[in-house]
Amino acid sequence: MAKLDKRFIWHPFTQMREWEASDPLIIKAGKGNYLIDINGKRYLDGVSSLWVNVHGHRKKEIDNAIKAQLGKIAHSTLLGLSNIPSIELAEKLVKIAPKGLTKVFYSDNGSTAVEVALKMSFQHCAQTGENKKRKFIAFTGAYHGDTFGSMSVGEIDIFVKKYRPLLFNTFRAPYPYCYRCPVKKEYPSCGLACLDEFEKILKRHHNEIAACVIEPVVQGAAGMITSPPGFLKNVRRLTMKHNVLLIADEVATGFGRTGYMFACESEKVSPDFLCLAKGITGGYLPLAATLTTWKIYKAFLGKHEEYKSFFHGHTYTGNPLGCAAAIASLEVFEKEKIIENLKRKIALFKRLLEDFNALTHAGDIRQAGLIAGIELVKDKGTKEPYPSKERVGHQVCMETRVQGLIIRQLGDTIVIMPPLSIKEAELKRIARIVFDCIRKVTELSCHCERHIPKQSGFLKT
Ligand SMILES: *Cc1c(COP(=O)(O)O)cnc(C)c1O
Repeated sequence: MAKLDKRFIWHPFTQMREWEASDPLIIKAGKGNYLIDINGKRYLDGVSSLWVNVHGHRKKEIDNAIKAQLGKIAHSTLLGLSNIPSIELAEKLVKIAPKGLTKVFYSDNGSTAVEVALKMSFQHCAQTGENKKRKFIAFTGAYHGDTFGSMSVGEIDIFVKKYRPLLFNTFRAPYPYCYRCPVKKEYPSCGLACLDEFEKILKRHHNEIAACVIEPVVQGAAGMITSPPGFLKNVRRLTMKHNVLLIADEVATGFGRTGYMFACESEKVSPDFLCLAKGITGGYLPLAATLTTWKIYKAFLGKHEEYKSFFHGHTYTGNPLGCAAAIASLEVFEKEKIIENLKRKIALFKRLLEDFNALTHAGDIRQAGLIAGIELVKDKGTKEPYPSKERVGHQVCMETRVQGLIIRQLGDTIVIMPPLSIKEAELKRIARIVFDCIRKVTELSCHCERHIPKQSGFLKT
């Protein structure tokens, strides 16, 4: 299998030379919160199969819903036709979404969910007499996907730098990366001073800006960077004040990850667009949705020959199997009171993460709900990062595999983002493995044993 993989597959975000020299881990099956490889070894799925899995693998209700849908039809189109699961899911999404979001446009991945919102907001402005509004404002460190539009509003250099000449210009405001504060202040005494720059740009350029794009509460790919309370609320206040639409990219944060169904809820924010993907099907199938308001929708109404329609659509838009999986996932949320039951797990997670402060190289420990990012640094005092070629984060994640845990780093930030179905005992095991592996890579293997902290709380439990 490994040989065939190396011969035929080009893996995403991967230096293939390194891959070819490696011994790839090949997954054969999954069950609950575990992945099983071709040798039968079991691993805890510590990053929800790249932030998608919600209720565990082979969740009976979702399996059955897909099987039942297969007995009817696997796919038909939303271009000129409709289908039952896409209608039922749209109704369910509107019911749980922040107030005012009443129209659902389907696509099939997170990048396109954002792309759709960018195009809709742009076209909305053009069709409501605001055709000078052609630009967007987004945040430092943002990640919104890999298509050209979503790359243009993104700002992770190693991902987008090569394509810069092809991308459109976007206004950029500082994101509250509090550990390395962009305005060199400290929360809460800063009074969210990072927003000043955002406000300045809006004041000066609101006539040119169609929309603001944000990853609410947690910037994912930037390293699970959590924004302080009040930030999102004020972003919404300022966009409203300056007549700029707000696009909330909840591709990563949606469906319970932050302890709320949607992160926007935590600050009682209703955006003009809500982009959903990753967890929407419980992590089963590629499906995405962009929700918007009646106010946006009505700017696209007119006679056929006015060509005000939204000329956008993907072949698998509203795929019935994906929608059936998504409906089943939402039913599990209700039936098992998932959001309510998360409170205990999140509190436990918080306690477990506190112990990481004992590590010599854990610079910043960030958490929102069941999402955590542990930023490893060479020197905690100066916050000096490790040289990137040491690939400390990568090394840690390779170590955890040996211990039966799959996680994936973002640079030197170790990400823990288990399915919401994770059990308390499993969460403890994840924390213990990650702690041990960080210590092994950053303290033991660099011959600095004398810095080893005393055993911390959870290691005894
Ligand atoms: C993953 C992600 C995307 C892109 O989703 P894809 O399905 O990979 O295209 C967009 N925005 C955010 C916040 C994400 O985490």
